[in-house]
Amino acid sequence: MPPFIEVPFTDLSMMAREVWPEVETAFTEALLQGRYIGGPAVAAFEEEFARYCDSSHAVGVANGTDALQLTLQALGVGEGDEVVIPSNTFIATAAAVVRAGASPVFVDVCADTLLITPEILAAAITPRTRAVMVVHLYGNMPDMDGLRAVAGQAGIHLIEDAAQAHGGEWADRRAGSFGVAGCFSFYPGKNLGAFGDAGAVVTSDPELADRIRSLANHGRSGGAAHYEHRYVGTNSRLDTLQAIALTAKLARNERWTEARIALAHRYRKRLAGSGVRLVESAPQARHVYHLMVIRVPDRDRIRTAMAERGVQTGVHYPVPCHVQPPLRRYATGALPVCEQAAGELLSLPLFPHLTRNQVDRVCEALEESLAAVPAPDGPVS
Ligand SMILES: *Cc1c(COP(=O)(O)O)cnc(C)c1O
Repeated sequence: MPPFIEVPFTDLSMMAREVWPEVETAFTEALLQGRYIGGPAVAAFEEEFARYCDSSHAVGVANGTDALQLTLQALGVGEGDEVVIPSNTFIATAAAVVRAGASPVFVDVCADTLLITPEILAAAITPRTRAVMVVHLYGNMPDMDGLRAVAGQAGIHLIEDAAQAHGGEWADRRAGSFGVAGCFSFYPGKNLGAFGDAGAVVTSDPELADRIRSLANHGRSGGAAHYEHRYVGTNSRLDTLQAIALTAKLARNERWTEARIALAHRYRKRLAGSGVRLVESAPQARHVYHLMVIRVPDRDRIRTAMAERGVQTGVHYPVPCHVQPPLRRYATGALPVCEQAAGELLSLPLFPHLTRNQVDRVCEALEESLAAVPAPDGPVS
């Protein structure tokens, strides 16, 4: 049977279509002026994005992974230092720590939210801990007040991996504004996505912003002298065309975010009472639903059954970081919540232009699949 797709997991083309007329005009102008790196389009986006994040500075970089790694380097976190991170995250969170020369300390998460808690952080801190990377997984926000208190008391840096949480909030404050820095990815599939790879760090510390900007631009001093270098840096700049696309998309991001939230609420309402376990969020959190994640036993068979019904799904993430072969050497033991969740997680289609009828269709396909696939401990017919 040829595979057919009735509901795709995501569709980025609809967002591109909305912004294209103004992006095309700005692209033409920038390209014909011959300015391709930096310049006013990048500065304008950085200013808008800092404001969007309730922060005062934004530094555009090449991608979200570099945003994390450059932040650690600019803070002087490296050799001999420990950085606490939840194990159920995209590998880039951990890779940034390792590439900065520090050691990731993987921790488990709360079973309901799949996020780190102040208690979990407090228990992981040792004399070598220099920072925690709080991951706003799926666009959801953990207890930022509690986490800040624990980090503050321990004298460690709180860095936000906000790659999935543009516009997310905790108690009416935006993701990225709680830590010493907030690191964002604009990978095309993220809530705010470029037309290629891009990222940014937001911070309210002007000196930190300045160091990150320099490190991302070959360690340049930033003055008129193009070949004077303060640091051995790298090349991780946000380019002009991506900044143009991002500015156009940022102007629509609140509307798109509200659409995601409304669709996620429809899913939640529809699935309440179905026996499907949902990922919870706290009342103080504005969950921006980068992903609509549920938990089902026998996930792989449910996934296949849904695909046969024309519904594409995803898994975020099937293998926790502490179990990934290149990171196993940092593991200190089992992390039962992360390990169990990894076998059950299923991401349902969710993007701003998904329709309510499509949400209903996904729920029907899920319910049919659950009925068709016997539960692992259930009777074998
Ligand atoms: C996407 C992502 C990153 C990495 O961002 P890139 O732009 O792909 O380098 C880091 N952390 C999390 C949680 C992500 O989802």
